[in-house]
Order: sequence, then C-alpha cells, then structure tokens
Amino acid sequence: TTTGTSDGARRRIGVMGGTFDPIHHGHLVAASEVAHRFGLDDVVFVPTGEPWQKRGRAVSPAEDRYLMTVIATASNPRFSVSRVDIDRDGPTYTLDTLKDLLRQHPDTDLYFITGADALEKILTWRGWEEMFDFATFVGVSRPGFELSDTHLAEIKDGRVYLLEIPALAISSTECRRRAAEDAPVWYLVPDGVVQYIAKRNLYRPEGSTRLDGT
Ligand code: ATP
Ligand code: MG
Repeated sequence: TTTGTSDGARRRIGVMGGTFDPIHHGHLVAASEVAHRFGLDDVVFVPTGEPWQKRGRAVSPAEDRYLMTVIATASNPRFSVSRVDIDRDGPTYTLDTLKDLLRQHPDTDLYFITGADALEKILTWRGWEEMFDFATFVGVSRPGFELSDTHLAEIKDGRVYLLEIPALAISSTECRRRAAEDAPVWYLVPDGVVQYIAKRNLYRPEGSTRLDGT
C-alpha cells in the first residue's frame, strides 16, 4: 500500500527564497540542514526580484545578488540558483515563486525554507492560504527570534514543520553594515562573496572605494 508519505519516487526540492544582499553562511547552513533532515534531492536558491517587504531601503541590483548566490552555492552539487523571481516583473510574492518552480519541475514536492523571523510574518504574505497547497514549509531556528507555529494552527497538518538548526547569528544587514565601515565580512559569507563585494564596491558609502580588495 502507498500513503502520502511513502511515495519514494517523487523528487523533493527545497526552495530557499531570500534577498541575499549578500548571501551568508546562515542561509547556507539552513539549506544544508533542511536538505539533510528532509532527504531533499536539491535545494534551489531563489533571489527575490523587488522584495515587497524591503521597499524602505535600497536593495542591490538583482544581478549582483544573483551572482553572489551563484558564487556561494557553486561548489555544492545539490544547490542551484533560479532566476524566476528576478526575471518576473514587479514585486516578488512567494506564491508566484512556487507556481513557477512547479511548472518547471512537475511531479516534485517543494519544501519552502524560512527562518523564524520570516515564519512569524508568513500570514501577511499575499495568497498565503493558497501557498500551503503548493509547498510544505520548514521554519528554521534563527538566533534572536522565537521559532513557533502557534499562529499557524489553521494550516493543514503536515504542511509546516519547525526545525532547530546550528545557530549562526549572521544577517545580511550586519554584513552590509560591516562592509560599509570597512570591518571584515570574512567567514560570515563565503570567500568568493567577500571578493565579489570588494570587486563591485557593494555597500560602500557613496563615492568611496576600497583599494586593497579585502
Ligand atoms: P536582511 O538582514 O537584509 O533582512 P537576512 O540575513 O535576514 O537579510 P534574507 O535574505 O532576508 O537574509 O533571508 C532569507 C531567508 O533566510 C529568510 O527566510 C530568513 O529568515 C533566513 N535566514 C537569514 N539568516 C538566517 C540565519 N542566520 N539563520 C537562519 N535563517 C536565516
Ligand atoms: Mg531578512
């Protein structure tokens, strides 16, 4: 007999959405840990187009965020990067992300990965009622935020999981702040991303350039 959970033939793909401005080791550990615990075949990182929650601040060009994500994930054969959100016009809504990915990968089960901070606000996302029909959601622990699903009681059973992962107190905001002040971002983000930030002079105050490339 088969049940919904013993259907071993279906591929399981993790979806790690984010602004990735810049991508850091917190994102990578979250993806790796969920892949391991949920037996995912692959994880697709999806940099946002226009992040609707971040309209208050200047977000780096999508192409830079995309390339940093490619650089950070290149060495992992199970990680890839999708352009669906940056190639779609207008603000990014996760519901559209999931529909586009399912169109590209029919017959797969999607696992959408979010940190505790994002999970807290998930019922404010556009079309959230429908979202849970397209993917299982995995909320992961993040230092400074409480991992809880008490606000998600009305979501169908088995569509939301909570997972404790190794704690990395890293945020893109802190990486940007450090880069702006010439403080090191080494070891917070992958080496290639440190070098890309320097090469493209990202996060620097207007008009200043960093000459040493470190
Ligand atoms: P920003 O400070 O600009 O908001 P961020 O570090 O929160 O950046 P995002 O691109 O906003 O990174 O996050 C993408 C996803 O990764 C979100 O679901 C977020 O909760 C999760 N995430 C980010 N950092 C961590 C971390 N250190 N541990 C666990 N999850 C994280
Ligand atoms: Mg964030």
